[in-house]
Amino acid sequence: MRRRRPEPSTVRVVRLAVPLAAIFAALGLVSCSTAASAARASGKSATPSYAPHVQRFVPTRPQVVADRAAPALRHDAEFVPVSVLATRFGLRFAWTDPDHRRFVLQNRAQRLEFEVDSRECEICGLRVFLGDGVRLEGGVPGLSRTDMDLLVIPILRPGYGGPRLHSVHTIVLDAGHGGRDTGTVNTHLHLMEKTLTLDTVMRIKRLLLAAGYRVVLTRTSDRYVGLAERPEVAERCHADLFISIHFNSVVGGAGAVTGVETFTMTPQGQLSTNQAVDQYVNVFNPGNANNYWNTVLGASLHRAVLGELRTPDRGLKRGRLAVLRLAQCPAALIESGYLSNDTEARRLAQPEYRERIAHAIVAGIKAYAADIEAVRRR
Ligand SMILES: [Zn+2]
Repeated sequence: MRRRRPEPSTVRVVRLAVPLAAIFAALGLVSCSTAASAARASGKSATPSYAPHVQRFVPTRPQVVADRAAPALRHDAEFVPVSVLATRFGLRFAWTDPDHRRFVLQNRAQRLEFEVDSRECEICGLRVFLGDGVRLEGGVPGLSRTDMDLLVIPILRPGYGGPRLHSVHTIVLDAGHGGRDTGTVNTHLHLMEKTLTLDTVMRIKRLLLAAGYRVVLTRTSDRYVGLAERPEVAERCHADLFISIHFNSVVGGAGAVTGVETFTMTPQGQLSTNQAVDQYVNVFNPGNANNYWNTVLGASLHRAVLGELRTPDRGLKRGRLAVLRLAQCPAALIESGYLSNDTEARRLAQPEYRERIAHAIVAGIKAYAADIEAVRRR
């Protein structure tokens, strides 16, 4: 997938009173898969929202850092004090700064770090972006019900409160881009995202078949496949799981950015991590049927790939990317490195490195499948 914006983690973003979503919409700063839907929402285009990733042809514009932007706090969202979480899971609460802006919830095994008025947090070692963020009510810190039940708890205690699903048997692997849609390109290293995604998917497929899973691919060659067609493949074969493989990039002199980024579908009513306003914000999309397990899957993959590659954690994020929005089974999209960083791109060009990514993703799938089984045994 293509990022339009460098995300220098060292940059502190001034929190703006004006909703950044409006600014993003005005600047067209939406992620690749939401670009078409945003355009459609604004009446600029009548084409389907699942247009291919063509944003690399769009001229770059002045950009805004999305990661550390102001929180999209919904004051109408149900507020749940974090003490509820602490009591339920045996966690101790403690402020970690004299101004009472940052706090932790922890026990011997687990640690969660939050900041008031921020969407960014750390849950059990993973960098996670909340949908609504942390807010104070009467001096008491809390989360929205949606963030607590569909993001924090599924990572903290996978399976707790989650619905029972079928055992994982059929897995659809989606090699991002293909054919005329090259995805991101590192021109001087002659690397195309579409080639690397297909190769990685083939490696994952071989490992999954050896582990006894049924595997279906959305493409097996260098051909164009529309975004909406990809989740349809999963629907046709009654898949239990859909995983989309991509490699990342930022433009505009942000070549230093490296690391792993994982996306799952944004829950209904929340803004995605990039805060893009789209026509689906308040729509219950097919991908929302699996909000709980989407998080478990995304966190499991994110943890496994980060653990293997030891690269920076770009975060577990939410996005109404077409393949996630339309998926009827738990789904996640993982970007295991940046082609826009030459050092990382050279690693991604090595078959051995892609084999490591494949092994990590399979480990993440197996961990997710084990969580599904644990709930089934209850
Ligand atoms: Zn991509």
